[in-house]
Amino acid sequence: MRARHPARAARRPLAGVLAGALAGTLALTGCTADSPAASPPSGSPTGASGSGSPAVAVDDPALDAAESTPVEDRVYPQVGDPGVDALHYDLDLDWAPDSRTLTGVETLVFRATEDAEQFQLDFGAPLEVSAVRLDGEDATYDHTGKDLVVHAPVTKDRRYTLVVEYAGMPKPVAAPTTRTDFSTLGWTVNRDGTTWTMQEPFGAYSWYAVNDQPSDKALYDFTITAPDPMVGVANGTLESRVKGDDETTVTRWHLDEPASSYLVTVAIGDYEETRDRSDSGVPVTYWTPRSQPRFAHRVQVAADELDWIEKKLGPYPFSSLGILLVESQSGMETQTMITLGTETYATSAPVIVHEMVHQWYGDEVTPVDWRDVWMNEGMAMYLQLAWQADNAGAPIDRFLRQYAAIEPALRREAGPPADYDPAAFGRGNVYYSPALMWHQLRLRLGEKRFWSGVRAWPKAHANGNASYDDITTWWSERTGRDLSAFFDAWLLSKRSPRS
Ligand SMILES: [Zn+2]
Repeated sequence: MRARHPARAARRPLAGVLAGALAGTLALTGCTADSPAASPPSGSPTGASGSGSPAVAVDDPALDAAESTPVEDRVYPQVGDPGVDALHYDLDLDWAPDSRTLTGVETLVFRATEDAEQFQLDFGAPLEVSAVRLDGEDATYDHTGKDLVVHAPVTKDRRYTLVVEYAGMPKPVAAPTTRTDFSTLGWTVNRDGTTWTMQEPFGAYSWYAVNDQPSDKALYDFTITAPDPMVGVANGTLESRVKGDDETTVTRWHLDEPASSYLVTVAIGDYEETRDRSDSGVPVTYWTPRSQPRFAHRVQVAADELDWIEKKLGPYPFSSLGILLVESQSGMETQTMITLGTETYATSAPVIVHEMVHQWYGDEVTPVDWRDVWMNEGMAMYLQLAWQADNAGAPIDRFLRQYAAIEPALRREAGPPADYDPAAFGRGNVYYSPALMWHQLRLRLGEKRFWSGVRAWPKAHANGNASYDDITTWWSERTGRDLSAFFDAWLLSKRSPRS
């Protein structure tokens, strides 16, 4: 997610930065994507709306890449179920803007992680389930609150195909944060009937049945039917775009590398598509509202910025990149298709850098649970500041000094970066404190060892998840120094280390 704060720091004197942070007006953002050539699962969906037929065979070897070790979240244990390892979501979505109704046929291939008499997914209460089938057989279920419980025995490590048919008016869910740039999460409908989603740390369940916790990565296919002139946009690559015979447009999107549910995006609106390409050959597409053409030009810095980031982090980890604009105040590193609000800061060059860095830090390698969101935001913030310094022809220290000055207050306000207040998700403490920490590590290790580690870490867990112990141990082993006290001081202490 993005942080609104840094651009203010660049434009305003320090007093303004301090006042903003202390008044709790700090706002933040994030985002990411990975590599080519991964073949789509065989038998990928036909796009036959409402067919409900299994899109992908359970034994398709392409699904192996999506096997995860799901855990219960320590910060938000009410969301997600470690009994389910989702492998592939096929989401067939039909949007009716006049009635604000979403009709969905979801086909989920999952692995049971334990023997159980029942299993459950997160699924928003406003949506009404009309049928649940497990491996083709009707299954009984309860849908109480946001829990969809399927009463059918499952066997550890067996794969199953679950079909859920549903319809209703999706409602976003409350965000566990005091940030000012968002207060709800998930499926959001604008006045004109266009829609978008942002769902960190959860909220995907407001529009499909999902194991909504970051340790469970899965592959995705989307089929989105929208009335003209609207078009549906989602993660991955656009496989087809066809006119229906009832004044609709049907788009099919395929994401070929596994993603956590908070990194999924869908938006439906009257979009203009602009195609671009980075120097390194990554195809980049911009999806901007036809009614606001100025944004099409504004976000086209992404391809050039990607070249700068690849010099720091190595080749972009996914097969395509997109920028999708929506009526939000924030920005998200949704995998391969970054979602940005149609406002000045969210579409600024530093925020686009930030969200692209997340494709490596957050998307390619993802925290096991929300305790370690600092792993995403610290490096995205640090490289954002490095880009801003390069762009301004100024030393990065000039930017860092401002954040060092406010860091103790951020830590007091929301807690240590890796042990924060659950009601204060995504505050400045998970951005600026770890950004300062990475700079201190750079000074300790020297340029070569620091940057080679920064490049190597995402590859060490490509398409996977990592914990606090994983990353801190990895840096210690790689450098031959015991860095555990260094990381603990920065990430777990109530008091700020000296920087
Ligand atoms: Zn971020």
